[in-house]
Amino acid sequence: MTMTGIKTTGDQPAVGVFALQGDVAEHERVLTALGARVSKVRSGSDLEGLDGLIIPGGESSVMDKLSRLLGLAPAIQSAVADGLPVYGTCAGMIMLADRIANPITGQQSLGGLDITVRRNAFGSQVESFETSLGVDEVSDKLVHAVFIRAPAVTQSGPEVQVLTRVETGEPVAVRQGNLLATSFHPEVTGDWSFHRYFLERIVAARG
Ligand code: GLN
Repeated sequence: MTMTGIKTTGDQPAVGVFALQGDVAEHERVLTALGARVSKVRSGSDLEGLDGLIIPGGESSVMDKLSRLLGLAPAIQSAVADGLPVYGTCAGMIMLADRIANPITGQQSLGGLDITVRRNAFGSQVESFETSLGVDEVSDKLVHAVFIRAPAVTQSGPEVQVLTRVETGEPVAVRQGNLLATSFHPEVTGDWSFHRYFLERIVAARG
């Protein structure tokens, strides 16, 4: 079967979007347009049968609080440990980071990626910016990237592959095994390269 730009050998991949907080609908739209089967994830049982999960942009401290309160956090952590492909954008990157340099009081992350992130590293909402980034692993064209109160990766372990950096040198897209994270929001730009890349990783992981 062929999805837009993606060759799969079996059914369409089932991709969940973490839906307790954040820009859920934007990811759902892109994934649906690319031919994935999409569902919202609000509890551990929603993870059943998924081939992949996206954690959107939003507010990581709220995502953290709600996901622990509702028992979704440990379910995602065990799915990650079992190899579920997960892609985190912006707040989602913070959720996947093993370490947060500047958490709010009591804030934890799910972890999985051997990185340290600094929240709001590029300034406040009014300092949001857009740029184009070369990301050889993901696309042969420049990728359009929007940064909104975005985190930067300030340290990464040996298993982490840095996919691209901003001009000032901070890594803003990383991959480690089945985990992918970007500081920016491809879901709001109309540039679907990272979603395509993630779906390809899912297909490879299922392979
Ligand atoms: N600064 C936010 C946080 O800490 C992330 C912003 C975003 O996802 N656009 O979660």
